[in-house]
Amino acid sequence: MSDVLVIGSYAQNDVDALNSTFNPTWCAAPADIASLEESARAGIKVVGFKGHVAFGAAEMDQLPNLELVANFGVGYDAIDTTAASARGIKVTNTPDVLNDDVADLAVLLLLAHGRKFEQASQWARDGSWAAKGEYSLARKISGGKVGILGLGRIGREIADRMAAFKMDVHYFARSEKETPNWTYHSDPVALAAAVDYLVVALVGGEETKGFVSKEMLEALGPRGIIVNISRGTTIDEEAMIEALTNGTLGGAALDVFLNEPKIDERLYALDNVTIQPHQGSGTVETRADMGQLQRDNISAQLAGASLLTPVN
Ligand code: NAP
Repeated sequence: MSDVLVIGSYAQNDVDALNSTFNPTWCAAPADIASLEESARAGIKVVGFKGHVAFGAAEMDQLPNLELVANFGVGYDAIDTTAASARGIKVTNTPDVLNDDVADLAVLLLLAHGRKFEQASQWARDGSWAAKGEYSLARKISGGKVGILGLGRIGREIADRMAAFKMDVHYFARSEKETPNWTYHSDPVALAAAVDYLVVALVGGEETKGFVSKEMLEALGPRGIIVNISRGTTIDEEAMIEALTNGTLGGAALDVFLNEPKIDERLYALDNVTIQPHQGSGTVETRADMGQLQRDNISAQLAGASLLTPVN
C-alpha cells in the first residue's frame, strides 16, 4: 500500500516520475479521497497536490496520518494552511523556479495589450490589411510609468524587466525594499494614481481578497492598464468589469480570474481586455522544475530529512 497520494492532473513526465519514485495512489480531485478504502486513507503520509480546488480541514481529516501536503505551484491558497498547522501537517510549495516565466508573461501581457497584438494579428490574417489598409495606431509602452503591486519573488523579476524597457518603476509592498531607484508607495491607491500601468503580483488567499479595490481602479484611470498574473481573487473583479465597461479603467490584461476556467463571460465581449488561460508558469522547462521540487519535498519528508521549501 502506498504512503503517497497524488491529487490533480499532471503532465506525462510528472506522472511517470511520480509513479516510478513513489508508486502512489491517484485521485483526480480532493472530493475523490472519500471513495478510497479507510485502510488506504490511513496509510497516506504525504499528499502531492496540484490544482485550485480547495484542500481543507475536511480532506485532512479523511487522512488521519497525513504529515505533508506538497503543492505543485508557488501559490498554495487552495490549501488551508491554518487547518494543516493545527493538525501538525506541513505544507510545501515550489517557489522561485517559476519566477522568470511568470515575469515574462507579465511583460508579454502588457506589451500585447498596449500594442493591440491580438487585434492587429487578426487584421493581418483576415485580409483587412490588404483590403482596408494600415492597422490603427497602438500605445507606446516603453518609457512609461509602471507600478508593481507586491514586490516579492515574481514582482521583483517583473520590475527588473520593466526597468529594461526604460520604465519608471514604482511599487507597493508592506515594507520598503532595497531597490535600484524605484519609488516606494506605502499606500496602494497612491501607487495606482502615480502610474500608467499596474501589474498585480500579490500573494493570493483570504488576506488579499479584493485588494485591488474600486478606488484603486479609479485612481489608475481611463488611460490605465492593469495586468494580473497573481490570482483572480486579488482584484475586485466586479468593480474591474464595471470600470472596463464604462471606461473609467483603460484596459486589463489578465492571466488569472475568479472562478477560472469558467470566467465571467462579460470579459469575452470587452475589446479592452486581453485574456490568457492561467499559463504564467506553463512552459515545459519550468513545469519540469516545479515537478522535481514537489517530488524532492515528498522524498525529504519520507526520508525524515528537512523539507526544501516549507511554508508553515
Ligand atoms: P511572494 O514572493 O510571496 O510575494 C508576494 C507579495 O505579496 C509580496 O510583495 C508581499 O509583500 C505581498 N503580500 C503578501 N501578503 C500580503 C498582504 N496581506 N497584504 C498586502 N501584500 C501582501 O509571492 P510570489 O512567489 O512572487 O508569487 C506572487 C503571485 O504570483 C502569487 O499570487 C502566486 O500565486 C502567483 N503566481 C501566478 C502564476 C501564474 O501562472 N499566473 C504562477 C506562479 C505564481 P511583502 O513584500 O510586504 O511581504
